[in-house]
Amino acid sequence: MPNFEFKIKHQDDKCLARIGEIKTKHGKIETPVFLPVATNASVKSLTTRDMLELNAEILMANTYHLFLRPGLDVIESHGGLHKFMNWSLPLMTDSGGFQAFSLGIGAKHGVGKIAGEAKQIKKIKHAKVNDDGVIFYSQYDGKKVFLTPELSIQIQQILGSDIMLAFDECTSPLSNYNYNKKAMLRTHKWAERCLKARETDQGLYGIIQGGIFKDLREQSAKFICSLDFDGIAIGGSFGKNEMYTVLDWLSKIITRDKPVHLLGIGTIEDFFNSIERGIDSFDCVTPTRLARVGFAFIRPEDGGNVKNKFRIDIGRAEYKKDQRPISEVCNCYTCKNYTRSYLRHLYNVKELAFYRLMSIHNLNFFLQLMKEIRKSIKNSSFIEMKNEWLK
Ligand SMILES: [Zn+2]
Repeated sequence: MPNFEFKIKHQDDKCLARIGEIKTKHGKIETPVFLPVATNASVKSLTTRDMLELNAEILMANTYHLFLRPGLDVIESHGGLHKFMNWSLPLMTDSGGFQAFSLGIGAKHGVGKIAGEAKQIKKIKHAKVNDDGVIFYSQYDGKKVFLTPELSIQIQQILGSDIMLAFDECTSPLSNYNYNKKAMLRTHKWAERCLKARETDQGLYGIIQGGIFKDLREQSAKFICSLDFDGIAIGGSFGKNEMYTVLDWLSKIITRDKPVHLLGIGTIEDFFNSIERGIDSFDCVTPTRLARVGFAFIRPEDGGNVKNKFRIDIGRAEYKKDQRPISEVCNCYTCKNYTRSYLRHLYNVKELAFYRLMSIHNLNFFLQLMKEIRKSIKNSSFIEMKNEWLK
């Protein structure tokens, strides 16, 4: 029996937004929730103490990268990922499927770019998908790896995450209907194999694929929802408007008794529009990745809006002597203690504290936003909050 429970605690009456509670071995999570990404068992530039201070409830770690480095034997010797990274709250792990996809695509582009260079590089970069799994070469040492649904589950079981993801094939937005159909059918077979391979009490989410094709998405949603998964994840890569259309199709089919995770999505607009369509959780590297290149998120009170993507570019000359914090209404450590002017200086001289201070602010922004969204759903004012933010 999976050590995993999901309860809906409040349903908005104007849309599909809802408050849920996920119970796992390492604690409870209230949804909708944002999962900061700890790719290499660390949220970049931050410690797990920082994550606790930011009130993060669950983190996402990356199976593919941890499998290659440091390797499973190292993590197993610690008794799993929680102990290895000193995080005692819930963890979700991805399946490694997305990296197989991105490496495969990256390979094609990479090969184009390095035409004429050593043959060895082409060989290392190439990933190949067949019905059994994905064959790729480690980007670190060139070692050949055959990642199958069974191996993905075995790895995630050794990592010991609270929520595992089924192994899937994520197609490129450029893939045609026939390829998407093939990849979707493969993903369905892999979903069954993942369920069969599970030997622990960890939760397991199935992944819906099907690209931007209505019949494929519907078929995939029906199939994945018919299996004994603990939750549902929506995979794929698509343009913004396409994504909302796909979510509209899916919301009519996905059963409401399981939590629904939207993979790799992280803009403010997307959060509101996806939660409205019944999404319960998100993971994305946006807050930390953008922090490192100088973007700080700001709220409507600070002038944030859809047009400026709710962010400022701290490197701009206008902040040279700006004595204000990034946000006047933010309660994070960075905003309570440092000015825009100081942060801009750190950015310009590439001081390491910059990455940390900006990541603290951006993650606080995302986690605080989710908290306010949850509050608005409880107060039946989610749509009002959405309209206020996205006007
Ligand atoms: Zn702040």
